[in-house]
Amino acid sequence: MFDRDQDRPHFETLCAHFAEDPSKFHGAVIPPIFQNSLFTFPTYEERATNYQLDPTEVEEAAGGISRFYDYTRVTNPTTDIVERKIAALEGAEMARCFASGMGAISAAIFSCVRAGAHVIAPQTVYGPTRQLLQDYLKRFQVSVTFVDGADSADYESALRPETTLLYLESPSTVVMRQQDLEAVAQIAKRQGAATICDNSWASPYFQNPIHFGVDLVVHSATKYLGGHSDIVAGVVVGSRERMQRLAMEECCLLGATLDPFAAWLLLRGIRTLPVRMERHQQNAKAIALWLREHPAIAEVYYPGLPDDPQASLTAKQLRGTSGLLSVRLKRPTREAAARFVNRLRYFQIGCSWGGFESLALPMALPAERLGGTPGETLWFVRLHIGQEHLEDLQKDLDQALRED
Ligand SMILES: *Cc1c(COP(=O)(O)O)cnc(C)c1O
Repeated sequence: MFDRDQDRPHFETLCAHFAEDPSKFHGAVIPPIFQNSLFTFPTYEERATNYQLDPTEVEEAAGGISRFYDYTRVTNPTTDIVERKIAALEGAEMARCFASGMGAISAAIFSCVRAGAHVIAPQTVYGPTRQLLQDYLKRFQVSVTFVDGADSADYESALRPETTLLYLESPSTVVMRQQDLEAVAQIAKRQGAATICDNSWASPYFQNPIHFGVDLVVHSATKYLGGHSDIVAGVVVGSRERMQRLAMEECCLLGATLDPFAAWLLLRGIRTLPVRMERHQQNAKAIALWLREHPAIAEVYYPGLPDDPQASLTAKQLRGTSGLLSVRLKRPTREAAARFVNRLRYFQIGCSWGGFESLALPMALPAERLGGTPGETLWFVRLHIGQEHLEDLQKDLDQALRED
């Protein structure tokens, strides 16, 4: 259904119908969970013949939906539907799902480095991604330079002859700093290096890095794509050329494949992605504007604020802003942050985000990563604004911030 570019409908319609064919499943409006590890064949010859076919040709011949299924680590019909849908939502040719966001991120990074390679990444990249680049990949002689990244010239001046990957996470973790996707993609292309962008914060509803020339887009689908705090999942999207190699190598060989049941829940989450994102945006914008005027708050980090220092980048690359923001308290200590979150009633204390529920978490960053004094620690409170009623959330924040 709608598998040709010329009759591609809007985002909401893609969420509802793209890559689905109820007629294949007795008219079932929801596709079944293919909870099987393997697919069998009537004859050995049939299986052997299938292996000799170009997978793209098999897809084309079958109207773009069914293809050759053999083993669920490689492909599965339920997962296939989600992968096609997410690829369409990102404006990419192909997607592969993974068992977690980190499964997707490590596969994408491994596909762009080799021994001796150099990577450039933003200082405020997601913690485990930082550890992977800085500590784990060191044993394979891969080195990394962390840059502020708000100015694309930071990437340019960190380039080395052996740089093979410019990594982006826009907006980034805790302080929601953006990088200029188009400018960094151009720098990478001149160097012959690849670009990867972690697009978890915006979701494909608000940002499509592929449109700006980024090669691979990764998501923690645990967050907005799943949207219900009931799965751990990841996805990588990109061109067919890059993705076919990644599918055969990092996906099949490292094997962090998504389970079909989780794929089915991910599909269910995606059906409501547009309405959820609108509500997250509406609530978060109102709360960010209100918190900025609050006497207990020193600073609000949210790309949706009209006077955000990166407002021009927001206008260029984001169609909207999500529900994740951070604040600095006027008393910027660990104790004050803990007191604030402990007093909240509707906001639960927890580390993830992207679900229906509001969350709060004190988070520390070395000041050095934000251009501050080495050795100093900066305390933030990260807030995920959920789907609850705005007035209830505001009241809750207000009573928790009160000095009494
Ligand atoms: C949570 C998160 C990840 C990791 O995803 P998992 O599904 O937990 O493995 C990656 N990037 C960002 C920005 C995240 O917030």
